[in-house]
Amino acid sequence: MNEINGRTRTCGLIGNPVEHTVSPVIHNNLAEMTGVDLTYVPFRVEEGRLEEAVKGAFSLNVLGLNVTVPYKSEVMSYVCETDELAAKIGAVNTLVRTEQGYKGYNTDMPGLYRALCTDGVSIAGETVIILGAGGVARAVALLMAEKGAERVILINRTLSKAEVIAEEINTLYEKELVRAMSVTEYELPDTDKKYLCIQATNVGMYPHVTDTLMEDEAFYQKIHTGYDLIYNPSETMFMKKVKKAGGKAFNGLKMLLYQGIIAYELWTGMCVSDEMAEKVLKEMLKVMDKT
Ligand code: NAP
Repeated sequence: MNEINGRTRTCGLIGNPVEHTVSPVIHNNLAEMTGVDLTYVPFRVEEGRLEEAVKGAFSLNVLGLNVTVPYKSEVMSYVCETDELAAKIGAVNTLVRTEQGYKGYNTDMPGLYRALCTDGVSIAGETVIILGAGGVARAVALLMAEKGAERVILINRTLSKAEVIAEEINTLYEKELVRAMSVTEYELPDTDKKYLCIQATNVGMYPHVTDTLMEDEAFYQKIHTGYDLIYNPSETMFMKKVKKAGGKAFNGLKMLLYQGIIAYELWTGMCVSDEMAEKVLKEMLKVMDKT
C-alpha cells in the first residue's frame, strides 16, 4: 500500500452500511499500480446526515467519493452538477471534485457494459430478459435500450413496478421495446431461440444462497447466457441453474470492478489497462475468499 504523507489525496465511499465493501481493495491497489498518491477509505453516513457528509468531504479537500445504498438518489440533491447519463438513470454512484462542488456520475452502467464486453456478451439485436424492477434493473433496461437490444422482457415479483419502467423507456425511445411481466404469469415467445438474461434482484444473495426468483426449470432452458449482478456468493443458484440447462453464467464481480475502475479514471485522469484490471480482480477474489 502507498505510504501516507502530507500530500496524500483521499477518496472514499459513503453509504450505510459500508463495513463489507470491497471497494478499498479496488482503489488502493489501483493507486499503488498507477503510482498515484491516493488512499481510499469507507465512511459510514447515518440517516439524515448525507448533506453534511458531502459538504464536509468537500471542505476536507476529499478528491472523490463513491456512493452506495441507500444514498444513490438522495445524493443528487447535493451535487453542483449531474452528468447526463446519471441524470437519465436517476442515480449517482460517483462524486468527482470540481471547483464549485462535486459533479455526480453513474459508473454502474458503464461498468456493467465494460464487464459484459470483456466477458464476450453482446447486446445488439438480442432479446434480453431482465429479472427485477428495482433501481439497478431500471438502469440495466436503459443500457439494453441504448446498446441496441431488439427486445427487453422485464420480469418482476411486483408487476406494477416493471410496468412503470417499461412505459418510461418505451416513451423515451418511442417504440414498444420493453414488455413487463410477472414472475407467476410470464410468457416467453414460443420459438427455439435462447436469450441473454440479466439477474438484477436481491434474490440468491448471501445468506439466502439457495433462492432464485424463477423456480420454473423450463425457464432456464431458454437462456444462453445468465448474468447475475450478485457477486456474493460467487456462484449463485441462478448461475447454477443456467449452467445445468446448458447456458453460460457470470457473476457481478466484474461489474463491481469496472464501476470502480471508471470512478478511479474520473478522479485521477489515468487510464487503467486490462492487465491492471486483471490484477485488481485477483486481489478482490483473494479478499472475498477470506470472508
Ligand atoms: P432494489 O432497488 O431494492 O430492487 C430489488 C429488486 O429485487 C426488486 O425487483 C424486488 O422486487 C426484487 N426482490 C427483492 N427481494 C425479493 C424477493 N424476496 N422475492 C422476489 N423479488 C425480490 O435493489 P437494486 O439496487 O436494484 O439492486 C439489485 C441487485 O443488484 C442487488 O442484488 C445488488 O447486489 C446488485 N448490484 C450489483 C452491483 C455490482 O456492481 N455487481 C451494483 C449494484 C447492485 P419487488 O419490486 O417485487 O420488490
